[in-house]
Amino acid sequence: MNICLFCAISAGKVPAHVVYEDDRTVAFLDIHPSAPGHTLIIPRTHVARIEDLSAEDAAALFAALHRLAKPIREAVGAEAATVGINDGPGSGQEVPHVHIHVIPRRRGDGGTLIQLVARTATRGTSLADVADKIRKKIAQPTNG
Ligand code: AMP
Ligand code: ZN
Repeated sequence: MNICLFCAISAGKVPAHVVYEDDRTVAFLDIHPSAPGHTLIIPRTHVARIEDLSAEDAAALFAALHRLAKPIREAVGAEAATVGINDGPGSGQEVPHVHIHVIPRRRGDGGTLIQLVARTATRGTSLADVADKIRKKIAQPTNG
């Protein structure tokens, strides 16, 4: 397929269990759910990385998450959810079209914390140095 899979779902050219859509976003069930109700929220406009979203799509995407998080959870009787984005191939992102995973959670479901997805050793790394580097990057004219 030449067209991106999630662009095709957004355009209605590939079937999906769509649960919500508006002018800028679409939400549909993940075809291989990690838990009942596992939902993906995408911008209609194709971009691969978070940083490539327009400000309007970034806002619309979070607004859709804000609108959908509770109904998704309640529909499957879950008490909680883990919400995340695999941003780039190095994180395991397989579909190069930005998508938010909303994964309903409950105690004892065998899952884990989002902050445990990486295990890179941090010994010898100064938090102050890292914070300084990040602040300098944010201040660069090319970053916002
Ligand atoms: P990732 O790019 O690793 O963040 O995840 C891509 C997700 O898309 C995976 O969880 C897949 O199960 C899901 N997926 C792949 N194809 C489809 C499809 N046709 N409809 C719904 N979800 C899909
Ligand atoms: Zn796309």
